[in-house]
Amino acid sequence: MKYFDYAATTPPHPEVVRTITEIMEAQFGNASSIHGYGERADQLLRRARAGCAAAIGVKADEIIFTSGATESNNLAIKGAALRYASRGKHIITTAAEHASVYESVLQLQQWGWEVTFLPVDSEGRVTAEQVIEAVRSDTVLVSLMHVNNETGTVHPVQEIGQQLKQKAPRVLFHVDGVQGFGKLPVAPAQWKADLYSLSAHKVRGPKGTGLLYVRDGVELTSLLSGGSQEHGLRAGTENVAMIVGMAKAMRIAAESQPDFARRIRVIRDRMIDTIAVIPGLELNSTKEGAPHIVNFSYPGMKAEVALHTLEQLGCTVSTQSACSSRSAEPSRVLLAMGREAACAAGGLRISFGDEHTEEDAAMLEQALHQMVARLRPLERR
Ligand code: PMP
Repeated sequence: MKYFDYAATTPPHPEVVRTITEIMEAQFGNASSIHGYGERADQLLRRARAGCAAAIGVKADEIIFTSGATESNNLAIKGAALRYASRGKHIITTAAEHASVYESVLQLQQWGWEVTFLPVDSEGRVTAEQVIEAVRSDTVLVSLMHVNNETGTVHPVQEIGQQLKQKAPRVLFHVDGVQGFGKLPVAPAQWKADLYSLSAHKVRGPKGTGLLYVRDGVELTSLLSGGSQEHGLRAGTENVAMIVGMAKAMRIAAESQPDFARRIRVIRDRMIDTIAVIPGLELNSTKEGAPHIVNFSYPGMKAEVALHTLEQLGCTVSTQSACSSRSAEPSRVLLAMGREAACAAGGLRISFGDEHTEEDAAMLEQALHQMVARLRPLERR
């Protein structure tokens, strides 16, 4: 069985597993304790913080460790909204964000904030002009993903950040960076992002571990009451072993990013060319997107049926994103891109990782042809 669902999660890197195991066996101290066990844990934490910061070109004390990007996105959005409520209660985002952003702003809407959901074009993209035009005197936050997790669409985050800071320097800019890091060059400070979220498990690190970059000078209201860990922004004993594992995974991902993009883009382009000529399939991704994701629809077939057929043929892919694939609803992202309901409900995602080769791509191509040949008699017309 070949796994083509790296956008959902990745197999932990063997070096990461080794590091985590060693620390769990030998260094179990609480990083807040002042005795030797604690100091050793604290030292590991400091080193990991510096490593994670270096991988995205920011300062170590701008990193807050969290349980993953869901928590980072919640903290960034609700934490900023609550902290700066006296400035205004208007937030700008898009109709195609990940559930952890989308549901966070919906919750704020229920609590009295106003949210502008910018429409995306047929490729799922917003422009800097759209963002700038939506800014009002009471806008406090713009939240936008770097790369869309369902389609691989890349937003012009640098252009948006720079124009936003020129027009409205007080408006905070949050970037959900989960699907971009390790795949494309990233530079949250250069993009003028104030907040930037990551999850370790998308880059062969451990699950349940992530970070939020909080630019120097930006304040947030903590969402958890408790101890003063993580500059008081994230109470709770740090998971030192997993955090060190994340730092290692991030270093490997940052170092191999250019090579990854060059190699995997060739495989992805080839897959796009294949899908484009199979009758009955419709592409939802373009070659301009991030190098690791291809999304397509099979409007004549239930997505689950297509997925299980591909699985029988030895290839694991995904319906929509893992976070929403158990929902019967059509993809919110594909609907926002203007796809019809049948197309939005039949979305399938292929996502590649560093281990994939041309032979894997050939196997998947063959499986796609075989899937359609098998399912053609059952297609809805
Ligand atoms: N944002 C994006 C774009 C994602 O792809 C994901 C993971 N699917 C998340 C946020 C949430 O990450 P996690 O599930 O690790 O909390």
